[in-house]
Amino acid sequence: MNKAKVFYASARVHKWKQEDSLPGKLERLLSIAELDKRFEKDEWVAVKTHYGSHGAHRIVRPVFLRKVTNALKSAGAKPIVVDTVRLNGYDYLEVANQNGINPLSVGAPVILADGLFGRDNILVKAGRILGEVAVASFIHDVPAMVVCSHIKGHINAGYAGAIKNLAMGGVSAQHRTCGWKCGRGAMHSIGEGKLFWDEEKCQLCYQCEEVCPLECISFEEGKKFVYADERCWRCGRCTRVCPGEAIMHEQADPEEFLRSLTEAAAAVLSTFKPGKVLYINFLTEIQPECDCMPGADVPMVQDQGILIADDLAAIEQASMDMIKAAGPLPGSAASDKGMKKGDDILKELHKRDYEIQVQAAVELGLGTREYEIVNV
Ligand code: SF4
Ligand code: SF4
Repeated sequence: MNKAKVFYASARVHKWKQEDSLPGKLERLLSIAELDKRFEKDEWVAVKTHYGSHGAHRIVRPVFLRKVTNALKSAGAKPIVVDTVRLNGYDYLEVANQNGINPLSVGAPVILADGLFGRDNILVKAGRILGEVAVASFIHDVPAMVVCSHIKGHINAGYAGAIKNLAMGGVSAQHRTCGWKCGRGAMHSIGEGKLFWDEEKCQLCYQCEEVCPLECISFEEGKKFVYADERCWRCGRCTRVCPGEAIMHEQADPEEFLRSLTEAAAAVLSTFKPGKVLYINFLTEIQPECDCMPGADVPMVQDQGILIADDLAAIEQASMDMIKAAGPLPGSAASDKGMKKGDDILKELHKRDYEIQVQAAVELGLGTREYEIVNV
């Protein structure tokens, strides 16, 4: 297979001109992408991003989304900025608003692709691990998409980029009939997925109670873990914040989790015709954790810039390689752990063999790990 082209604009600014700013360089990247040749006049194009959380502000900044929607409109298409429900829909739109994502700032409608209740979705065949997944109905039906992914770490995935944006972000939390079992919770809880609590390991920090979006967790008399299994949609937030592995999903299998992410991403992509999805990875404010967490730590490596490509595996591999090549920033979670330049920061931090995601993407026909960087 030929090398895939990955177009790259560095975050460094060498001239004090708008064209040399990162937003200015994104305009150049988008002009190279020839949007008018890939999207039809008046075609609806989803601009898939992550709206963040009440405390996680390090997302793809609205200025970049605006550049994308402007370029799409100049190409004659009709952009719509989308994400799927993470908290409840009403509160999640408020999160988008407070993080600066609204129709005025991004120049396009800002919607929830699976509706305010997060149940507008359509079952799509996935594969060996997941069977089928509930793809957000708007993403299922829209003919084209630009996947704008903020690159960062992730406690379960190690690395979170475009594959995770498609998988966790293109699939709803739950479905009307099969609940979390065909939602994104099916990825978090490979196996049966019930939570168990280990009293001896619990430090009674109550962070799990704090982060649960559905108030499934409480502590009887401040000591005994009480868990509403029937309400839990297996989002995995509680297990992620637990400092002592005191709550875990039964049969958690990190490798299957990584493969399931790519399987779900492939299911989402199967709803598009070839050539109708473009990827933009933003290697900015590369923090240790996911944008859905209640806070965003300081970046671990310096901003690298923006990558744009047609090839999912290639853009993910290129993003991973850039982070590997960058040294840890002082005062960050990486330098706290004594990491130095040359260390695989995300692997050391999260103890996950995160490149399995890309290997799985190649196996599922979603591109190649062989790429060529084209500097813009
Ligand atoms: S996985 Fe944990 S945080 Fe998520 S809904 Fe279930 S109990 Fe709440
Ligand atoms: S986050 Fe973990 S350690 Fe803290 S209260 Fe919950 S189970 Fe216990």
